[in-house]
Amino acid sequence: MGKDPRSIVAAKRDGEALPTADIEAFVHGYANGEIGDPLAAAFLMACVIRGLDTDETLAMTQAMIASGDTVSFPGLTMPTVDKHSTGGVADGVTLVFAPIAAALGLGVAKLSGRGLGHTGGTLDKLESIPGLRTDLSAAQIARQVETVGCAVGAQSPSLVPADGALYALRDATATVPSIPLIAASVMSKKLAVHTDLILLDVKAGSGAFMKTVDAAEDLATACLRLARGAGREARIAVTDMSQPLGDAIGNALDVAEAIALLRGDHRGRLRELSLLFAAQAAEVSGLVPADEALAAAERALDSGDALERFRAMVQAQGGDPRVVDEPDDLLPRAPVAAPIEAPTDGWLSAVDAESLGAASVTLGAGRVRKGDPIDPSVGIVMRAKIGDRLERGQPVGFVYAANADDAAAALSTTQAALVITDDAVSVLPLVYDWFG
Ligand code: URA
Repeated sequence: MGKDPRSIVAAKRDGEALPTADIEAFVHGYANGEIGDPLAAAFLMACVIRGLDTDETLAMTQAMIASGDTVSFPGLTMPTVDKHSTGGVADGVTLVFAPIAAALGLGVAKLSGRGLGHTGGTLDKLESIPGLRTDLSAAQIARQVETVGCAVGAQSPSLVPADGALYALRDATATVPSIPLIAASVMSKKLAVHTDLILLDVKAGSGAFMKTVDAAEDLATACLRLARGAGREARIAVTDMSQPLGDAIGNALDVAEAIALLRGDHRGRLRELSLLFAAQAAEVSGLVPADEALAAAERALDSGDALERFRAMVQAQGGDPRVVDEPDDLLPRAPVAAPIEAPTDGWLSAVDAESLGAASVTLGAGRVRKGDPIDPSVGIVMRAKIGDRLERGQPVGFVYAANADDAAAALSTTQAALVITDDAVSVLPLVYDWFG
């Protein structure tokens, strides 16, 4: 690179707005190894403290996209959509949304990541289905979308490699919490995959990166600007993550919950949010008028069409399609199931969702480091939701564990995560706002 990269860091340190060329040079220099971790860490910290304006954030996003391959699905006959969540607990929306959207005539082409930290990942959940593979090429995804309507594959390391490297450095240097850096990281991976519509679910609350609705709205606005700056259609929702969205916090447990929802055996906030996203996608893509979109999504689910799409997706990806009919027999099951009881009488007024997610990781459902193995069978099912009246000793869920000691530890964390008060509280909104 031409310019001394230290001068770029110094300019940001002193609060200057960086020209696009300097941001490109810095990101490329880091991606190709010319700039080392110490200077890149200083750059990131200067960005966290001084911020990045809209143009700088777009320049950073585009430079990160240019560090690797992009993916497109030419020749698909239906409108394509990608859906992404910024990460939550019991957030199995993709598993339910994708087949509903497919049943509505959309093509859901999704490249997913694995769970990291206290949040779960769609790939880990899907891979708990015996035989199911997620190592799909872009051509395989396109073929499957054309025939089945939905495909979920693993994001390859050559997609936005600069984000992979910068994210690991941010994690190691306390530079994750910055709205422009998070927006650039999330959107670079979405913009590198060419679908007609991007649906983004920005989570707000105790189980999310963004703990407040205001911060989540700022992130949603930043992401929308990036989509617009890149000329892409996006709809972004800020949704509640003050408690686990569904009941299941694990991998096979989440798949079992998704199947129960698709079969119509179960309802709840996970079903509601999945329907809202599918309705939004159908409406924006022009498949259904706005005032009919939610009813159409409900029909796609209640008629069993979405369940059949899910079965076809599992089969196309090498999984055992009988999982849809016999989930209890075919999904991995933990040896120990310990009931969770409400610790006291009162109203459930808050839940520490992050600590429930972390307890599930400790049971083995998630990984502390990238590449760690996971146990698909373990996790937590928490049925109580904020606003419920509880009686002491009332069963509110289960801990599924590999052994009794793990179960006992998770039970005490789980009970401590429930805030039970004498005063009733109201049920929280599911969606705070839509952007786009
Ligand atoms: N998810 C991402 O992909 N990047 C971030 O920086 C935070 C959440």
